[in-house]
Order: sequence, then structure tokens, then C-alpha cells
Amino acid sequence: MTDNDLGTADLLRALPAVDEVLRSDGVQELRRVVSDAQLVAWVRSAIAELRRKVLSGNSSSNEFLASAIERVRDLWRQDTQLSARPVINATGVLLHTNLGRAPLAREAIERMQKAAAYTNVEIDLLSGKRSSRGGRVCRLLAQLTGADDALVVNNCAAATMLALAGVAHGREVIVSRGQLVEIGGGFRLPDVFRASGVHLNEVGTTNRTYLSDYRSALNGETGAILRVHRSNFSQVGFVTEPTIAELATIKRPESIALIDDVGSGAMVDLEFLGLREPTIMASVSAGPDLTLFSGDKLFGGPQCGIIVGRARWTAQLRSHPMMRAMRVDKVTLAGLEATVEIHLAGRAQQQLPLYQLLCTSASELESRCQRIVESLSPPPPIRLQVIRSEASVGGGTLPGATLPSCAIEVRGVKADVFAKQLRIGEPAIVARIADDCVVLDLRSVLADDLQRLGSRLSEVLTGGDRAGV
Ligand SMILES: *Cc1c(COP(=O)(O)O)cnc(C)c1O
Repeated sequence: MTDNDLGTADLLRALPAVDEVLRSDGVQELRRVVSDAQLVAWVRSAIAELRRKVLSGNSSSNEFLASAIERVRDLWRQDTQLSARPVINATGVLLHTNLGRAPLAREAIERMQKAAAYTNVEIDLLSGKRSSRGGRVCRLLAQLTGADDALVVNNCAAATMLALAGVAHGREVIVSRGQLVEIGGGFRLPDVFRASGVHLNEVGTTNRTYLSDYRSALNGETGAILRVHRSNFSQVGFVTEPTIAELATIKRPESIALIDDVGSGAMVDLEFLGLREPTIMASVSAGPDLTLFSGDKLFGGPQCGIIVGRARWTAQLRSHPMMRAMRVDKVTLAGLEATVEIHLAGRAQQQLPLYQLLCTSASELESRCQRIVESLSPPPPIRLQVIRSEASVGGGTLPGATLPSCAIEVRGVKADVFAKQLRIGEPAIVARIADDCVVLDLRSVLADDLQRLGSRLSEVLTGGDRAGV
């Protein structure tokens, strides 16, 4: 009897039972790594899919058991791809928000690992008494930036919310129309500002805002003046806006805070790389009450938001109820502490992977590309070529600025298929696609990953692909 002789009812009867699929070797094997409840859910969903196929007349096979097992294994493979794992970043975007922004220093990673179990996050081991969470790291941050005091929250968006809620709740915040920025993920800073319970008093125009605009906007309701660094786009042409130092000259009552949202958090002047990004120290010394920045952009640390500034304001923020909802965990604090110590020791370029990537010369990148390409022998029609490339810092920093780079271009493949093979293999590699080619930009590849990148490329090129999907 062939499939075609079977009616729909017969086919439905031939569907395997949940237990039958569960007992199969192919599914039993997964019990080592997957919970029974999850396996049952996948088996049910696999059988339901088969049933839908039968009902829609698209099932011509009664090899149901085998297809159900294969489908369960597929669901497991897909799920594995979703679990957090390391990625080699060959996109050429150094602070790729989708790839977790800054790669951390070895010292930071070690400190985070140690803090992951029990740790002295809120106990003074000398006295045995309760201590303030992150007390030491805040002190070091103040020392590093030249501010009175510092606070750490979950990210820069949280820093903005806490700062505005803490200093200007229910009052007005003066902000330039040229600085109402949309950041990643479709989030708009003006919405974040309003969510902290302040009213925006927008001044100036998109391209031009003057000191006098801020001055004349001051009124009895003003709680803060906010400057937002335009970190993910740039304006050229007929453009002007006051600097933070100029804003600091505005005479204002003590109750009005001047806040500088710098975002990217450069600690080192990157001018020597041809990159212009305001430093935190420049902001602090220009005299705002509070300076805000991300810990995981140019600061090169774990995800967090850092607030530094005058003690009068930081004390107010520290005891604000929102602070309790935004405080960071022990692991983040440990990683941040190690990162701050590296900055304090003036060793960012030696010890922070981000700065190593930034500072690698284009000629060194070229020889890295060359070495990898020479070690590979792609089967025709696939061709590998070393090309010049332009990398970027990314992650809401240095809009439009590029870094000279070098890349391996893979030609003669189906670019999307090849790129997917790289993504879902081990190690996972995320590359760019340009002009139907896969481009692996080495500016963002950590030196320690070069060898693994080469071996994995070799595997995929020669078809000895272990990706298993
Ligand atoms: C990146 C950025 C933010 C958001 O920072 P997160 O750490 O991603 O929350 C806010 N403001 C500015 C100016 C930024 O550049």
C-alpha cells in the first residue's frame, strides 16, 4: 500500500504518540541536556505540525516517527543557538550593541568570576558591619574623573532617568531641540526623560540653539538644564549650540542642576586615532553638576550607567527610591572595579581589549588577513581576497567616523547561506555581507580569536562543517 492509498483518517491514526517519540533513541539522547518538560513540549509541537500537514493534504509520507524525531532535534538545535554563547565579532563594528558592546579586560572577567559566588558586596570585612554597595568603586570613579562623587546604575538610560527624577521631578527640564535623540532599539530619549516625571521645555531649533535660548527659558518651574551628546549622528553646515562650559556660565539658582549626558564615556582622548569624542574629564572640569555616561561603550567595562558630579546632587540621587530599582549586581560591580583600576593605572591601551582593537595598525590587520588567507585552500569557485575595509566604533559613539581596516572577502558563495553557517557553527562568527560577498573585518576580531577564526573558516570552506544544522 502506498501513501496515496491512505485517507486522511488513516494518516491521522498513523501519527505517533507522544510517548513513542519520547522513547526513541534520537530523543532519549537529548535527555542529558534538556529537561523532560521541554522535550515533551517539543514532541507535542512536532506531532501537531505533522497533524497540520496531514489535514492540509501536504503529507504524502507515513514516515511520521522519523520526521517527528528529526523535528524535535531541529527545535533543540534552534534553541541551542539562542542560549548565550561567545561570538567572534567580524563585523568591523567594535562596540556592537547586538554583540554585547565592549569586550571586557581579562582582569575584569576574572574579578567577575570570583564575585559570582558569595562576595563582600555589602559588608565591610574589617568591621563586619554592613557597607555601602559599590562604595569603593564609586570612590575610585570620583578619583578617576575628578568629580566629588559617583553612582552606578544599570545603564546610561537609567542614569538619565534617575538624574532627572532625582533633581527635577514634576518640574521643567530645558533641552535643545537639536539634542532630542533616538537611541538604539527605537527608544527616544525625550520619552525616557518624560518617563522620569519631568516636563520638557524644548528650546532652539534642530540646527541652532543659543545660550540666550537657555537663559530666556529659565523660569520658576525649571528643575534642570540638560545637554545630550549627539553620539549616534552628526550635524554639519549651519549649526551651533553652546558647549557644556558655556552652559555652566548661565546664572541660575542652586536648585537648578546642569546635567551633561555624554553617553559614550571616552576616558582617553582619541584624537591620536583621528577620532573626536568628548572625554568625561573634559565634561567634569567644564563644571556641570552631573555628568552621565555608559560603562560599556568607550569606557570598556560591563554594562552600567555612571553618574559623577557634585556631592550635593549625588547624595540626593543615592537616597532616591529609584536608585534601589536601578542598582547593579555584584558581578557588574566587580568587573567595573577592575576596569576603573585599569584606567586609574593609565593602562587602558595595554589592558582593555577595546583599545587594543582601536590601536592595531592597518598594516598589522593586513598581515593577519594575509596569514589566514594563505593557510586556506578554498575549493573553486570560492575565492578569498584580502581587501581594505572601513571599520567603525559603533554602539552610539563617533557617528560617521571610520577606522582604516582590512578584511577577508569570500567570493563565489551564496553569501547569506555562508554567513549563516559561520553564525551557527562553533565558534559562532558574525560577519558582514556586502555585494553578495561575505566580509570578515579583522578590526573587531580579538587577537586571541584569530586562530579559531581561521580554523572555522577552513572547516566551512572545505565542507567539513561541524555546525551540525
Ligand atoms: C548610548 C547613550 C545613551 C544610552 O546608554 P545605554 O547605556 O545604552 O543605556 C544615552 N545617552 C547617550 C548620549 C548615549 O550615547
